[in-house]
Amino acid sequence: MTDFDVIVMGAGHNALVTAAYAARAGLRVGVFERRHLVGGAVSTEEIIPGYRFDYGGSAHILIRMTPVVQELELSRYGLHYLELDPLFHCSDGETPWFIWRDRERTARELDSTFPGQGEAYSRFLDDWTPFARSVAELFNSAPGPLELGRMAVGSGRGRDSARQLSRILRPYGEVAREYFSEERVRAPLTWMAAQSGPPPTDPLSAPFLLWHPLYHEGGVARPKGGSGGLTQALTRATQAHGGQIFLNAPVQDILVKEGRAQGVRLANGEIYTARAVVAGSHVLTTAGALPPEYVPAAARDVRVGNGFGMILRLALSGKVHYRQHTEPESRVGLGLLIKSERQLMKGYGEFLAGEPTTDPPLVAMTFSAVDDSLAPPAGEVLWLWAQYYPFELASGSWETRTAEARENILNAFEHYAPGTREQIVGELVQTPAWLEQHLGLHRGNVMHLEMTFDQMFAFRPWMQASGYRWPGVKGLYLTGASTHPGGGIMGASGRTAARVLLSDLTRRRWQ
Ligand SMILES: Cc1cc2nc3c(=O)[nH]c(=O)nc-3n(C[C@H](O)[C@H](O)[C@H](O)COP(=O)(O)OP(=O)(O)OC[C@H]3O[C@@H](n4cnc5c(N)ncnc54)[C@H](O)[C@@H]3O)c2cc1C
Repeated sequence: MTDFDVIVMGAGHNALVTAAYAARAGLRVGVFERRHLVGGAVSTEEIIPGYRFDYGGSAHILIRMTPVVQELELSRYGLHYLELDPLFHCSDGETPWFIWRDRERTARELDSTFPGQGEAYSRFLDDWTPFARSVAELFNSAPGPLELGRMAVGSGRGRDSARQLSRILRPYGEVAREYFSEERVRAPLTWMAAQSGPPPTDPLSAPFLLWHPLYHEGGVARPKGGSGGLTQALTRATQAHGGQIFLNAPVQDILVKEGRAQGVRLANGEIYTARAVVAGSHVLTTAGALPPEYVPAAARDVRVGNGFGMILRLALSGKVHYRQHTEPESRVGLGLLIKSERQLMKGYGEFLAGEPTTDPPLVAMTFSAVDDSLAPPAGEVLWLWAQYYPFELASGSWETRTAEARENILNAFEHYAPGTREQIVGELVQTPAWLEQHLGLHRGNVMHLEMTFDQMFAFRPWMQASGYRWPGVKGLYLTGASTHPGGGIMGASGRTAARVLLSDLTRRRWQ
């Protein structure tokens, strides 16, 4: 008899989703996590006394388009989502505006600040809501070869599918220009689309903009207590059904005998056996743990890219005061702070040349405005996500260049909220090198692999592995951002991988 039915390597949120479904189905589950806490890029800790920082993702958007939270009854296990409204605070520093959950209110306010742009916003949402919904459906299922066609048909319900398809194939920066004549409206929307990594000029990248209607559909939320509230709840859900979680337990080898996964060997030499192994780690980490004869060339050829973002997490003694947006609502949603489209492109140009961006656009997050557990009553957490930052630098190393990159991020924020730097009482600087070293995100890519069309859907991580099974090793399954539908806090990969695993192990159809 094996030690477990299922061993899960890594306790990232997708891996925990798979673990929770497997445990609920009555399988004996053991999760082995390298770090001292669960969650990977969805985890939170009190890093500065009195201040809780997320280590990775903070805005819970895509998971709300999946049934994961309801099916696993995560509210029973302590997950409590706080809704953010407004969803976004957009600003060039001079003329701020809000994106509310309510699309009509958003359009109305936009029209009064930028005449005509509210109408354009409503038209944009009308045109792309069916598409966005069909993308969400695709995210929730295993990928097939015909996604593009299905997306186009989905987007064209009652419309001109050919025209819609040609837009889907374009760079998102171009599609934004088709809809919005005002740059102060276009730039923040483009900046939000840039969060997946590819720049606004990449062909086939328009979906990153065109799924924007999903923000109004599902909202933007935060687990009370920090992003890690999700993975803590998943842990409790797994344990409630008998699953075991082992921390500080890095898997060194995935054991394979005659083409079948047998279990794992930990770094301390302990061996655990199972009927199946699910790897929720980065696909290159998984490949590194396998005997070389079971690693096909395609696994080594995946494109990880050269990092793209970094984040400065600050503990402040006081609240953030925006110069032009003094309403308390400015601190609620994601601050899409960008002076112009040129600022984004200039940063991308510097990145291509191997240099950290000197004047980055920012996503500013002050979630202590909605969650009093994150900071002392008078204080604030301020997290500044910035792009673009190469993992591999043209000159120097991250050890020598972190101070300069940090300084440039702080300077960029001063344009919006002068004086903030005087309130800093603690900080964590997460460069691409930090993200690799601490979170196992190879080359600092928070999406694991580049989110370009050649690595999406049935091409993620590569075609033969896109069905969540490692080709050539029976009983070895894959989940996580390295698989469809990619990076982000979503859990959809974990759920679909569980489906595949359970139908193999229990020979039962998914309920
Ligand atoms: C700074 C930052 C900001 C982000 N912001 C957002 C956001 O606001 N919204 C959003 O949707 N997404 C965001 N993301 C992206 C999102 O958080 C990630 O894409 C996603 O969480 C990846 O999840 P995953 O399930 O693939 O696992 P990962 O989080 O990559 O977890 C993999 C786990 O495997 C473990 N592991 C690795 N090797 C081993 C081993 N040998 N043995 C055992 N365990 C191992 C790791 O320690 C880790 O816990 C952000 C990410 C970062 C880093």
